[in-house]
Amino acid sequence: MKTDFVFDIPTKLHFGKGTLNRLHELPLPGKKALIVITGGKSMKANGYLARVQKELETAGAAHVLFDQVCANPTLQNVTDGAVIAREEGCDFILGLGGGSSMDCAKAIALAAVNEGDFWNYQHGKTGKGQMYSEKPLPVVAITTTAGTGSEIDPWFVITKTETNEKSGAGWPPYSYPVLSIVDPELMMTVPPKMTAYQGFDALFHATESVINRFEDAFAEMFALQAVTLIGRYLPMAVNNGSDEEARTYVAMANTLAGYYMNCTSEHSLEHELSAFHPQLPHGAGLIMISRAYYQAMADAHACDEQMIKLAKALGKTDATQAKDFIDALEQLMIACGVDELKMSEYGIVPEEFPEMVASARAMGGLFAADPAELTDEQLLKIYQDSWK
Ligand SMILES: [Zn+2]
Repeated sequence: MKTDFVFDIPTKLHFGKGTLNRLHELPLPGKKALIVITGGKSMKANGYLARVQKELETAGAAHVLFDQVCANPTLQNVTDGAVIAREEGCDFILGLGGGSSMDCAKAIALAAVNEGDFWNYQHGKTGKGQMYSEKPLPVVAITTTAGTGSEIDPWFVITKTETNEKSGAGWPPYSYPVLSIVDPELMMTVPPKMTAYQGFDALFHATESVINRFEDAFAEMFALQAVTLIGRYLPMAVNNGSDEEARTYVAMANTLAGYYMNCTSEHSLEHELSAFHPQLPHGAGLIMISRAYYQAMADAHACDEQMIKLAKALGKTDATQAKDFIDALEQLMIACGVDELKMSEYGIVPEEFPEMVASARAMGGLFAADPAELTDEQLLKIYQDSWK
């Protein structure tokens, strides 16, 4: 574990119940916002959009709405949003919702000021890894879920539908949101299943950070605390969505995990599942492959000490071996009612796995961050062992 690090997170974070009601008092980074939300109904039905619009108006900021973002934001979403931002003269982008909206907002902020096909700036199979020439428009992130940590990180994941490619990018420190609102009150309406999927996504951001080959000791403090809070409060938030204390601590865990998004190939393997099957929620895909992934790490004895720390953080205080973490993980899945998720219910068939392995490799992946190097055969086995 490294003990040298740089801590440079430029996002001003306002965390706490009722924080959204104070948005109008906070310094905004511009005079006209492009508000980015998904095509789903919840932001409008729950009144969150109207509240944000009113806050902006009270602050004297104009706004335009882009409400077309897909659950997995597409290149087309980014391009469409950027066109509106330019045509309407928006000088900042406000992402409201879950990771989809916030990721798309960050990408639009770059696409609005950088010329050409935005996919050229992405990495992976058909991306060209071109460098941005202009800094993005400032982004305000208002999260309504506790899962992606997108409100506090500079990254975004977008999908090129034509080629099934899902690729992450970002330009730290410029693409961090300048202002983030984490108001647990906005999460009270998330249904139990989604609460669990999102909570496990946050959990795996943290657990992958702890086993990550490049992790430093400072980042580990954030990640282990996130794991502890999720272990204690996620089952309560799933089983009683109106438990304010549980919602607050799960939200805190998510943001803590977001500070250091040091993912490993567990995330690369999941991105293939949900790129091939976009209706699969990211968190559900991670849950499906997690046991086999951490089993491969336990078998390799590459990060025993770290997995013991994770088991202890999840409440298994007498943990002595790496496998204890997998047992603790299983217990948490049972407590949240997600231990029986089946790939087959999302149309995933084992015949797809070799192509997914090849695609994960071609996309660059996060394999170098794994504590043990995994061969293609091992990756295939992780998918196969996870299938039911
Ligand atoms: Zn994730």
